Amino acid sequence: GGVASSLGKGLTASSLGRLLKHRGYRVTMQKLDPYINIDPGTMNPFEHGEVFVTDDGGETDLDLGHYERFIDENLSRNSNATTGSIYQSVLAAERRGDYLGKTVQVIPHITDEIKRRIERVARNDVDVVITEVGGTVGDIEILPFLEAIRQFRNMVGRDNVCYIHVTLVPFIGPAGEQKTKPTQHSVTELRSRGIQPDVIVCRSEEPLSDDLKRKVSAMCDVEERAVVNAADANNIYELPLILHDEGLDDFVCDVLRLDGTIDLTYWQQFVAKVEAATTPVRIGLIGKYIQLPDAYLSVVESLKHAGFHHGADVEIEWIQSENVEGLLAAGQLSHLDGVVIPGGFGHRGVEGKIAAARYAREEQVPCLGICLGLQAMSIDYARNVVGLADANSTEFDPATPYPVIDLMLDQRGIEDKGGTMRLGAYYAVLASGSQIAEAYGEPVVSERHRHRYEFNEQYRGQLEEHGLWCSGTSPDNRLVEFIELPGHPFWVATQAHPEFKSRPDRPHPLFRELIAAALERRAATDGTDEPVADASVPSEPSLHS
Ligand code: GLN
Repeated sequence: GGVASSLGKGLTASSLGRLLKHRGYRVTMQKLDPYINIDPGTMNPFEHGEVFVTDDGGETDLDLGHYERFIDENLSRNSNATTGSIYQSVLAAERRGDYLGKTVQVIPHITDEIKRRIERVARNDVDVVITEVGGTVGDIEILPFLEAIRQFRNMVGRDNVCYIHVTLVPFIGPAGEQKTKPTQHSVTELRSRGIQPDVIVCRSEEPLSDDLKRKVSAMCDVEERAVVNAADANNIYELPLILHDEGLDDFVCDVLRLDGTIDLTYWQQFVAKVEAATTPVRIGLIGKYIQLPDAYLSVVESLKHAGFHHGADVEIEWIQSENVEGLLAAGQLSHLDGVVIPGGFGHRGVEGKIAAARYAREEQVPCLGICLGLQAMSIDYARNVVGLADANSTEFDPATPYPVIDLMLDQRGIEDKGGTMRLGAYYAVLASGSQIAEAYGEPVVSERHRHRYEFNEQYRGQLEEHGLWCSGTSPDNRLVEFIELPGHPFWVATQAHPEFKSRPDRPHPLFRELIAAALERRAATDGTDEPVADASVPSEPSLHS
């Protein structure tokens, strides 16, 4: 990447992955992040956006979510490496004495470890590895990564590496002229590190003229057809088609000496379906981190995928959880066709999530609870249906008389904040005849987790006697994985994070059923209620790096 971050490198890489898959190649992807944290697991969502969780429990960069959604492959923790994790390996080797008394240095020890991280995902069942380097070429932290990928070409052979540089061509000045100078500068910077890009992907608001492409080609010394323009798209899933029209996959395959043809019919039909999804449906997302919608990236994408399936355009209304009680008192949530209560950590805003759960339950509003959402819905049920006043999670009230959500015994007393959660894929068994079993269409499912607290099995009997159904549990029946409310159109929650497994052309069953119920509610109420005018709320997640 050059010029600026958040240019859409991740989406460009993902789109190339999709195109190579349509050419019949087996593709995997990875992200190298130059920051120092060992992984993004301990980072504030406001800093970094969502933490994407892989099946094997890796807490990874949200770009891995784009990768999985575009190339339709499950990735592992190996698909994300940070400077911190690379130093961690090198320092552990140093302590073991692996370097036999040598001075340990950035070159070769850190760069060798970076190359190892790339090789590690290049398994036998993969034809192409797409490696995205985070940040931009001018960053101090990126230098070892640039050096490592420079060496990599020499190591594996010239025809086995293709360097793609993503840059910005901004509109500047009163005349609104497109400027290639930032691109020229970042290519110069890249060359000073010894890397000549094979392809330059120019991001721009409006399409680039052929003249401008010729200029980039001449100034940056890449073939004219290697200057690829990614102008802003209507939706992110159109990007593979745009990049194909620009010749990206053709050129990359030439560089890598890969042959074959491409059949894009499937993706074209899918994009047509996306464009035809116009029936409005309004979903309230009750979140704590809504100032940075990237914090909910996979939830947002999952809602959209479900919309595509139903021909619906899901409008997300971002509702600050702390404001829910006030909005409810003013009758200002009645226009919502459905509600999502997503995951989160810490006390702030939890009462709002519990209030939203109650409102949805009492007013028959379709509601999907995710992780903390399941916990909030269980607390609502304990307090307001069973009558256990001040029931709570011990995360928010350690002295609650009714800890309906609590740490498991074997989790108590752990101080280390890294990697101590229940992370990654776990199986759940679904009760036959339940809404969720119907939705999934199978009795055993696997979902990814990221949480510390659990539904307290001591309260399960009491809540079930009062009508809640713990309809999905761990195979040993100890952990509650899903709840639902018989008789309600859709008041369903899971302790897992289903949003990590939704695919654009294969929506996750729970999101699919949420939107189905929301559409039904809208049809019944005619969708006539007025929306709340909410000032503080951003529009859409950015197309993060
Ligand atoms: N804070 C809750 C827990 O740790 C929920 C976590 C989440 O929503 N991801 O159990």
